[in-house]
Amino acid sequence: MIDPFGRAISYLRISVTDRCDFRCVYCMAEDMTFLPKRDLLTLEELDRLTSVFIDKGVRKLRITGGEPLVRRDIMWLFRQLGRHLQSGRLEELTLTSNGSQLERFATELADAGVKRINISLDTLDPDKFKAITRWGKLGKVFAGIRAAQAAGLKVKLNTVALKDVNETEIPEMIRFAHGEGMDLTLIETMPLGEIEGDRTDQYLPLSTVRSRLAEEFTLIDIPFKTGGPARYVEVGETGGRLGFITPMTHNFCESCNRVRLTCTGTLYMCLGQEDAADLRAPLRASEGNELVSETIDRAIARKPKGHDFVIDRATKRPAVSRHMSVTGG
Ligand code: SAM
Ligand code: SF4
Repeated sequence: MIDPFGRAISYLRISVTDRCDFRCVYCMAEDMTFLPKRDLLTLEELDRLTSVFIDKGVRKLRITGGEPLVRRDIMWLFRQLGRHLQSGRLEELTLTSNGSQLERFATELADAGVKRINISLDTLDPDKFKAITRWGKLGKVFAGIRAAQAAGLKVKLNTVALKDVNETEIPEMIRFAHGEGMDLTLIETMPLGEIEGDRTDQYLPLSTVRSRLAEEFTLIDIPFKTGGPARYVEVGETGGRLGFITPMTHNFCESCNRVRLTCTGTLYMCLGQEDAADLRAPLRASEGNELVSETIDRAIARKPKGHDFVIDRATKRPAVSRHMSVTGG
């Protein structure tokens, strides 16, 4: 799958549910209306659709959400997808999770062939954690991290940089992550979906964070890549890796190799644009995969050059109305 800008699409992110057991302030409103269950693709349909993408050149899969581990029987899907790892058609199967259910599932994930996972964690302070996630318990996430490491999974922490909330804590988070043998990636908030607060109050450019960190740490640019949009440095003092995902301050779209599938079978060619293709109807219209394969080809031919996010006081509306939990992080 090659898009109009010559980018080869080899990475599919699948949001397997829009539901979550947390209500992070930058991600969701507290009172969310979720999709009716009947609109969701079944796990069998998700498996079939994923096989079509693998036939078309996808080599890397990330399962996300919402919180993927709250979807019932999700381990069945992981085991099914794991067979593509065994056959060598898929290079990597990964997961982004808030960590709350990992204590239960870490071993099964490792058994299915998952090697590395991303866990989202924005603070090490239990009260702040409660304020950010509204419903989360930090102790459960720590237990999840420990379980994942014990199961042999390589863990990376993802931290959204939030003005006045965790900005002074970032050095401590770097020391914590690197001390535990985990990479840490910092992310800028993106204007996705209506939330209760004002996004301008949360937005902290990573250019600012990086220059502050450079006063305390030696940051050495390294060419390390995981297939995602992060750019990495090595932190001289800890020997660990620190990533920066900067959709706002540095547009990374030119090297985009990704498309995103929602739990209803909608394919988004860009996180920050509205254009999408419905794959559920062609999937259900016939037992063969020709229709869905053609629909994917037409969608890839429309993949846009990039997003145009803005966060400022004058721009009141989010860039796109759907929440990150719908398209998948
Ligand atoms: N529930 C899982 C989790 O939290 O890791 C997976 C889905 S979550 C939507 C994926 C990532 O998106 C998380 O790291 C989260 O912090 C991030 N995220 C959510 N809303 C965001 C926003 N508006 N801007 C930037 N990152 C966001
Ligand atoms: Fe849930 Fe992840 Fe969104 Fe937080 S960021 S509300 S954990 S989907």
